Formats: sequence, structure tokens, C-alpha cells
Amino acid sequence: MNWNLETLFENFQRIRTEIPELKLFGEKPLHSQSEDVMLEEGKEIAEKLTSTLLKYREVTGVGRGIAAPQIGLQKNVFITYVNDEVQTYINPVITKHSDETNFYRELCMSSSLMWADIERPQSITMTWTDETGKDHGETFDDFIARLLQHEYDHLKGCVCLDKAIPGTIAFVSSNPLDEKLRKG
Ligand SMILES: [Zn+2]
Repeated sequence: MNWNLETLFENFQRIRTEIPELKLFGEKPLHSQSEDVMLEEGKEIAEKLTSTLLKYREVTGVGRGIAAPQIGLQKNVFITYVNDEVQTYINPVITKHSDETNFYRELCMSSSLMWADIERPQSITMTWTDETGKDHGETFDDFIARLLQHEYDHLKGCVCLDKAIPGTIAFVSSNPLDEKLRKG
């Protein structure tokens, strides 16, 4: 994939027509608080999210997470797609985060054209329920901690651009998969 402006805008056009359920930065569901769900509803939402994420990946070749508000549902559910594996997080709660932070240029499916530098805690502890109803509590570091915080923010009505370090919002200009975490 060529990450120049022309391809970026072509892909954006395809996203608008081929993935109409995907909400974009500025649309109301992305800026409101979500609520907890029962397991069955959580599973159904996770399936819809997986289908949307896979369509997005077909167009852009990237996309490692998506949260319910991004398809217009104010529910506490998100999925991640890492190493060809989908993980479902129902009613997640971040219970702890480190004081230590790092930096990363984040892209969001809901702001397909733009990315920005964002500072976040290096590690977090999160509880959630998976699609089988099993409860989990785990501590995550580095990239996974960042991905989970990005998706969790969506449930709080916060899109990554809201947290951008001033002056760093820009058109995507290289492969997002080449981005690396940077120390503060
Ligand atoms: Zn996002």
C-alpha cells in the first residue's frame, strides 16, 4: 500500500460507500458515554464489530481495534484484532494505570485520514468479560496497553484526536504499522 494523499483519499471514499455503518469523528455516538450490556447483546455487538473491522482491513490493510460507538452503539464493548486473532472485551474497566507514559502516533478507523501524537500510560490493569462469559483481570504493557486504552476511550466518548498533543494532528503519510512507541 502506498501511503500518499491520493491513496488515502481514495480509500476514504471507499470507506464511506462500502462501510456505511462506520461513524466518523464529529458524529454524535463517538462523543457520548456508553453503557454496560448483558452477555448475549455483547456477543452480538462483537460480531458486528468484527465484520466492520474486517471490511475496513480489506480497504486499508490496517485496523487493530474497534469499539461499539464507532458503529453507532452506545454500549461497553470493543474488540481487538492482533496477530490474526479477534479478542472480545465486554464491559471493560481500567482499574489502574502506570505513572510512566509513552508516545505514539495514533490512527483511528473513525479518523481515517488523520493521525496524531498521543501520550498515554505505559501499562494498565483492566477487568472485562469475554464472549464466553468468563471474567478476566490482567495487566498489559506497551502496544497492547495503548490499543486497549484507545478502544476504552471510545466507550467514554473520547476519540484519540481529542487527546492529541497540540500541533501533531496531520494527514497520514506513512504506513501506520511502522509506528513505534517512544519514551517520554
Ligand atoms: Zn478508534
